[in-house]
Amino acid sequence: MIAASSTRPQPRWQTLWRESITDAHELLHLLDLAHLAGNLPAADAGFALRAPRGFVARMRRGDARDPLLLQVLPQLAECDSHPAALLDAVGDGAARAAPGVIHKYRGRALLIASGACAVHCRYCFRRHFPYAEETAAAQHWRGAVDWLRARPDIDELILSGGDPLSLSTAKLTELSDALRDLPQLKRMRLHTRLPVVLPERVDAELCAWLAALPWPVAIVLHVNHAQELDASVADACARLRATGAQLLNQSVLLKRINDSADSLSALSEQLFAIGVLPYYLHQLDHVQGTLHFEVDDARALELVDALRQRLPGYLLPRLVREERGQPAKTPLQNP
Ligand SMILES: *Cc1c(COP(=O)(O)O)cnc(C)c1O
Ligand code: SF4
Repeated sequence: MIAASSTRPQPRWQTLWRESITDAHELLHLLDLAHLAGNLPAADAGFALRAPRGFVARMRRGDARDPLLLQVLPQLAECDSHPAALLDAVGDGAARAAPGVIHKYRGRALLIASGACAVHCRYCFRRHFPYAEETAAAQHWRGAVDWLRARPDIDELILSGGDPLSLSTAKLTELSDALRDLPQLKRMRLHTRLPVVLPERVDAELCAWLAALPWPVAIVLHVNHAQELDASVADACARLRATGAQLLNQSVLLKRINDSADSLSALSEQLFAIGVLPYYLHQLDHVQGTLHFEVDDARALELVDALRQRLPGYLLPRLVREERGQPAKTPLQNP
């Protein structure tokens, strides 16, 4: 007898995930940039290259400075060590409340639902996070749900990761079923990059799950550059919005990728065109291996001032930094 799970066809997004590019030489070859292979680091600094083919198709061929390529291509600079850089810059380790739960801010708890991501962003602040031990799904949510049950003050649960939508919809349903009887939950939030880098993930099964959740849902996407948005992403956002979810976006301010007023204003405008409002623009956390992406605070403030003069207020992202021990993300302000 064959187990039911093995006869069930795999969703298409999982096939596309498996077919992602994980070899830097192949990526360079596809983009007519094979001559740059000599610049690749010998090792992957503990964080392998990964990018879905549909995301790579949005990169410009022959352009070594393409803003999407620079987000995923391993660089020699990642191996530089820097005295100010940390492995756990934002203090997530200290804020661990239960297996897979990070609690820093009043009323909100963040669940590390999965350690996996469809794309490996070179600037990622979680690149050193001990996912193997800290994924809530690994324990069938038990520890996380037990902790929440004893916390009537938590009214918003944030599914994060890694990427929570890397989990199968069946696994997500298992979680939402376990949370359904917690009376204190008023909102559910998802932090995900999958609808952007692998829009096929937003399939009918996922949308049915979202639409049936008993809480209002906010989905915070992660887009750094307008070039990441194509018709397939616009369609995925339309499907998400049809479930009743609010769509927001967080970006990271990244040197040579989006550190210009033109690039950031185009991003805000094109997000709005597909039904997404800008939420946060993050100053990079000081994480080992990512400092070559850093934009200094004076320049960051200058950029946001330029945006304020160009855009309606509702298209202005809030420029913030995460600081350990603070009760909220810290807004950057002119001295
Ligand atoms: C960023 C973050 C949140 C969410 O903060 P908001 O300002 O509500 O978006 C919650 N918990 C943790 C641990 C976070 O890092
Ligand atoms: S999708 Fe988010 S968590 Fe995953 S590698 Fe990119 S920045 Fe990190």
